[in-house]
Amino acid sequence: MSLSKKKSDIYIQNSYIKLPQALYSKVYPEPVKNPKITIFNESLAKDLELNNFLENTKLIKEYLSGNKIPKGSIPISQAYAGHQFGHFTMLGDGRAVLIGELTSKQNQLVDLQLKGSGRTPYSRQGDGRATLVSMLREYIISEAMYYLNIPTTRSLSVIKTGEKVFREDKLNGGVLTRIASSHIRVGTFEYVARTCSKNDLIRFTKYVIKRHFPSLLGSNQLPVELLKEVMLRQIDLIVNWLRVGFIHGVMNTDNMSIPGETIDYGPCAFMNKYNPDTVFSSIDRNGRYSFLNQPNIGYWNLSVFAGTLLSIMSDDKKKSLEIAKEVLNSYSEEFSYKWHVMMAKKLGINQFVENDKKMILKLLDLMKKYSIDYTNFFVKLRWDAFTGEGFCDTIEFQDWYKLWKQRVQIENNSSEVFKIMESQNPIVIPRNHLVENALLEVDKGDNNSFNKLLKLVSDPFNYELNINNMQTVPDNFDETYKTFCGT
Ligand code: AMP
Ligand code: MG
Repeated sequence: MSLSKKKSDIYIQNSYIKLPQALYSKVYPEPVKNPKITIFNESLAKDLELNNFLENTKLIKEYLSGNKIPKGSIPISQAYAGHQFGHFTMLGDGRAVLIGELTSKQNQLVDLQLKGSGRTPYSRQGDGRATLVSMLREYIISEAMYYLNIPTTRSLSVIKTGEKVFREDKLNGGVLTRIASSHIRVGTFEYVARTCSKNDLIRFTKYVIKRHFPSLLGSNQLPVELLKEVMLRQIDLIVNWLRVGFIHGVMNTDNMSIPGETIDYGPCAFMNKYNPDTVFSSIDRNGRYSFLNQPNIGYWNLSVFAGTLLSIMSDDKKKSLEIAKEVLNSYSEEFSYKWHVMMAKKLGINQFVENDKKMILKLLDLMKKYSIDYTNFFVKLRWDAFTGEGFCDTIEFQDWYKLWKQRVQIENNSSEVFKIMESQNPIVIPRNHLVENALLEVDKGDNNSFNKLLKLVSDPFNYELNINNMQTVPDNFDETYKTFCGT
């Protein structure tokens, strides 16, 4: 038998099923009535060398709806737990099935998961399904994040199922194919630490390190090193969110990915006017997951993660606690430094110095005070094109602007400054009103606005693009805008 990969094969691996059985349940997706492709990501398919899908769209419909399973796949749903809004719960893939793993062109192992694919042993009271609109929302925002250079799960396709799902209304159903470095979450560690043996926890930890952090393999303190690495990736991730005004919306520990990708695009949204307290999620009444509380929650989630590793850090509980605390104690300083470096870059400063802190904070004060658009401001600053904006004429802003001009002149020549600014500040983000409008139209069968928006957000740093008024938010839109989980 030849092991060579034929051009037409989907070559599926199933490394997760070699782990302790308590970590998953074997389950098939539930077939759907009348699958139709709403969107398929050709460039991602090429990256994954899914040539057969590119050559034969019938296969997309069959395999990516869950109606057929590729040869070699042993589909499973993964078990996990999590702290939701601070409260521990047993969870698991209630509406997702992992078809298996693929190797990308870059030789990375990635998960291929169907979401909205029917009931599983973890579905609890849920129907295991998803609405077409919510899966398309995940598709467009995750792709936008990818092009904003932010680590994220990706979307390969959305299939309209031809079946209705019952929420407050009867809605079109959809299945998303999600590609992720893996779907291992802080909540997966919580599940293993609470329900499995210490040996199983060690086995699982080794699997995670081998898959995601192979450079740590020689270390004799694997759990501690893992905690440090996961912490650094989370810091980088959240700093990136703050760079573009992204609000995840539901940073429960089950939605925090161990490889450090943005995962679970439920009630997420983008902030328009700068306000650190911005929340859009309908269920986040106390602002736990507000824009500027995200770094604090990152720390909170990492503390939970550290807790799951204590039993394998050392045999002495007190010592383990000390080690974990020492790692976590560096979070705040590390975060603050990386955040300042990022903000400085948004201002065209390559070499952040302590003295820049005041200028950055003053700008954010002004942005909040004058409700300035967080994205458009930096683009306008780059073009030096503030026209008709009330805040520009204020003495406060004029003073700030003079300081900034002097500062960037010291730093670099102006083409260097513009280059840095252009690489950090997108000219387009998936504005909430555009996303919602596009989704309404696709649901009615018209894909035009969706495709147009997808194209726009796939090139967000192209300062040559003529975006007209595409990034102007309708008055008062945000005041009533709400996002929802689990639709
Ligand atoms: P999420 O809010 O998407 O992070 O989901 C939290 C938990 O609820 C996960 O265990 C999901 O699998 C589960 N879940 C969400 N929607 C459904 C559904 N329609 N049917 C079954 N389980 C669901
Ligand atoms: Mg989730």
